[in-house]
Amino acid sequence: MQRRHPWVFESAIARGGADSGETVRVESHDGAFLAWAAFSPASKIRARAWSFVETQRIDAAFLASVCARAVAARGLFDLQSDGVRVVHGEADGLPGLIVDRYGDTLVAQFLSAGVERWKDVLADALLKATGLAKLYERSDASGREREGLKPVTGWLRGDGPTEIVIREHGWKLSLDIATGHKTGFYLDQRDSRQRFAELAQHRRFRRVLNCFCYTGGFTVAALAGLKAANALQGAQLVSVDSSLPALERARGHLALNGFEGQGIEAEFLDANVNTVLREFIDQGRTFDAIVLDPPKFAPTAAHAERAARAYKDINRLALKLLEPGGVLLTFSCSGGISADLFHKIVASAGIDAGVDGYIAERLGAAPDHPMTIEFPEGEYLKGLVVVRKPA
Ligand code: SAH
Repeated sequence: MQRRHPWVFESAIARGGADSGETVRVESHDGAFLAWAAFSPASKIRARAWSFVETQRIDAAFLASVCARAVAARGLFDLQSDGVRVVHGEADGLPGLIVDRYGDTLVAQFLSAGVERWKDVLADALLKATGLAKLYERSDASGREREGLKPVTGWLRGDGPTEIVIREHGWKLSLDIATGHKTGFYLDQRDSRQRFAELAQHRRFRRVLNCFCYTGGFTVAALAGLKAANALQGAQLVSVDSSLPALERARGHLALNGFEGQGIEAEFLDANVNTVLREFIDQGRTFDAIVLDPPKFAPTAAHAERAARAYKDINRLALKLLEPGGVLLTFSCSGGISADLFHKIVASAGIDAGVDGYIAERLGAAPDHPMTIEFPEGEYLKGLVVVRKPA
């Protein structure tokens, strides 16, 4: 906490206690003030800092000003979407709070004892800061359990349809805030989807494999790029996910964006990516662009070793399927896997696959999912653009 890290672990506390979400004064062993923090008796992260300023009162006015600052900060970035992460937890000074805006609707996850306690104040402050009237709660992420909190979902303020269409770059993407993953959509991959569209336009991909496609964001991106290059005719796209509702939505995105009847071949496979990659290798299929955007294999550093093997495996298989000169966009959203380790994993996957490649670019979360200097745990999503060396 001396270095403004926002967490105090259970093991670092000598004495003191409070109710769930109550504000406590955190002191060093010699009694010096460190922070005002929200106490969480059930969690290993026993306290999360609200402020490192001793004279700061933690009250409704303070929290409203923090919300307003988070909302205002989004104006700093040209996000090219009306789907925006408005609050990104610790990085915005609101530990455990995630808020995404989809058009005129806010969707919030209250994932810590502190924000749970201040829920009503935060809901009103967020609506005031954004000028909106609707806020849906999706506090059903697994992190709630570790805080001793039960899952809660439903309208917290206002109501309306849970089915929403956002505009990302020039594309239409639909989602359901009640049933979709997380708050409904993976906004953090926005810039990487755009990058994929640019690559598709420049390189005129003929065969694209989108693994862990969810609702097909990278598929839509590829098609948008090909359309801009006037190269839709004859393009083949395979999108794979283990969630059938997500795949149905992915298919629907083709019609929604006017890609149907343009001479493309689009397959949507409800399957395990590992199995599909192995089958494609057996069938001798190859691709000139592959996306690997798996779920979090390592939620914490403790899972890193097993996760590293899983990442290496899918990357090895994908590299084998890549044409010489082809492009692999490969990601890890595991907080427990550092950017450096991820690079090493992909490197050893290349060696095992017998495939040599260039790291053409590094990718990360869009800027409305900020990282701060004091909170290295905030870096979770990292990606590499690997180009297989030409034969
Ligand atoms: N690229 C997506 C987000 C991917 S999230 C986007 O841009 O929106 C990860 C996805 O992996 C989820 O949709 C989940 O359903 C899927 N998934 C998880 N394990 C899987 C597996 N073993 N095989 C196929 N899909 C899987």
